[in-house]
Amino acid sequence: DLLVVGSANADLVIDVERRPAAGETVLGGDLAVHPGGKGANQAVAAARLGAGTALLARVGDDAYGRLLLDSLRASGVDTVGVLVGGAPTGVALITVDPSGDNSIVVSPGANARLAPADVRAAVSLFLASRVVSAQLEIPLETVVEVVRNLSPDSRFVLNPSPPRPLPTEVLAACDPLIVNEHEARVILGESCVSEDPADWARLLLAKGPRSVVVTLGAEGALVADSSGVSSVPSVKVDAVDTTGAGDAFTAALAWRLGAGAALEEAAAYAARVGAAAVTRRGAQESYPTAREVGLL
Ligand code: ADP
Repeated sequence: DLLVVGSANADLVIDVERRPAAGETVLGGDLAVHPGGKGANQAVAAARLGAGTALLARVGDDAYGRLLLDSLRASGVDTVGVLVGGAPTGVALITVDPSGDNSIVVSPGANARLAPADVRAAVSLFLASRVVSAQLEIPLETVVEVVRNLSPDSRFVLNPSPPRPLPTEVLAACDPLIVNEHEARVILGESCVSEDPADWARLLLAKGPRSVVVTLGAEGALVADSSGVSSVPSVKVDAVDTTGAGDAFTAALAWRLGAGAALEEAAAYAARVGAAAVTRRGAQESYPTAREVGLL
């Protein structure tokens, strides 16, 4: 049903009392290794909900690459499109201090080597998917190639994270473009002075996407298309950890759209999935099954 094109990372997390200064060494807690990366997160979120999901990504020929492949397969993701080699697996080195603030160094590694040619070689995955979902932790030229390889009856969903200005060709293909506040501001640029998310949605729509979704954390989301802007109520939950909520939201939305749901209906479902994801710690570990979403 769904093809996710994007990143796969190993997140290496250590709790510290305080961050080291230049030249200093500090001792931290035990290392925790979590499967992550926005592409892999989206694929796992969709597969856990029951979507037939394939991932087009690149990992290194190393222990972290094997760990990521194992965790994708354990979640039911089709990994024929996960290419191996070319550089070490992407890694995020994360230190977390007692106040919960984190410092992160990302080594894109193999993610930066997911090339336009890899997209062209994955024709069969594109033909088999009603929806293709991407993010920006892979080269922009690879995302451009994704847009060029969409089959005529399939739909493209983009979460431009980490955000950067996008070519018109990519913007025009998005249906929808899914952004949080930070991503909306970067894509709209300095010219946008409004504090009203409904204005961001309208201004983003004017840049060419067929539809736009603005996610607003605990406040829910806005959806916008040619028929106007409407809001999707959030679901009240006790939030424990919002890591990866946006990835779960995007995956759920893409899957429902592929199944024929209208944008508002798909976004309402995605908001329930995002809400469920914040009630547990972690990213992939926090993602709900369809049954758990139904119990919310
Ligand atoms: P991102 O992680 O990309 O910044 P958001 O924080 O906006 O994205 O979260 C994505 C979606 O997940 C929101 O639109 C909302 O539906 C849901 N969500 C996130 N945080 C909460 C929360 N505290 N309570 C309920 N739902 C939430």
